Amino acid sequence: MTTALYPGSFDPLTSGHLDIVTRASKLFGQLIIAVYDTPDKRLLFTTKERVELAQVATAHLPNVKATSYTGLTVDFARKTGANVIVRGLRMSSDFEHEFEMALMNKKLAPDLELVCLMSSLQYQFVSSSLLKELAQLGARLDGLVPANVATALTQKLRTTC
Ligand code: ADP
Repeated sequence: MTTALYPGSFDPLTSGHLDIVTRASKLFGQLIIAVYDTPDKRLLFTTKERVELAQVATAHLPNVKATSYTGLTVDFARKTGANVIVRGLRMSSDFEHEFEMALMNKKLAPDLELVCLMSSLQYQFVSSSLLKELAQLGARLDGLVPANVATALTQKLRTTC
């Protein structure tokens, strides 16, 4: 069975992420959403919250689980037995960064393959940072985030603003 790791900040998980998760879950035996446990204070949600939001949003996908990790992604991949890293690519913004990271990961872990899935058209311009900004300004995010994330965003912004 091929296990794939989908690493990222997921602050929070968007419909663009969920689209990648859903498609990747059909390609691999098991998919692990790996939420990076970063000390970055600029994140809106705690690591625990980001993991829980991903778990609830993907509860209908039996071969998907979400967990947090620290340190190098390639080390976590080894630890979980994953042989593939999944990333999503949006049209303009992601390629150079993903390519740079992929080359470095290849150097660190030559056996680990990277599979990039192209973002679906309707999610090309969806990013966690833009959605957080929109939510702060009171925009409705229907269809852009899973329902549980929309609720969590409203609650979080009410308590932090
Ligand atoms: P990171 O902090 O590593 O960039 P993110 O949580 O922002 O993590 O994203 C995780 C992965 O999902 C990255 O590969 C990113 O390019 C991809 N991604 C983000 N938004 C979308 C989207 N709307 N459609 C497809 N892929 C996306």
